[in-house]
Amino acid sequence: MSSYYIKKYGVHELHQSNCVWLPIRKGMVKLGEFDSALEALKKARVLYDEVNPCSTCCSIGKKRSNIMSVD
Ligand SMILES: [Zn+2]
Repeated sequence: MSSYYIKKYGVHELHQSNCVWLPIRKGMVKLGEFDSALEALKKARVLYDEVNPCSTCCSIGKKRSNIMSVD
C-alpha cells in the first residue's frame, strides 16, 4: 500500500507520497492508501471530474497495457 495525494488546485494531479513533486507543489491533499496508482485514480475520479496521473510517480497510461482504459 502507498499513500496518494491529489493536487487540489488547477489541474488535478495524482501523486504518490514519495513523489519528488509533493513537497514542491502547493495544495496537495491526501487521498488515502491504495494498492496501486490505478486504484487511487479511480477514487480520485469519483471526487474530481478530471485527474491526471503524475508522469513522474504514477506510470499510468504510459504503458501499452493501458490501465487508463479500465472503467
Ligand atoms: Zn508525482
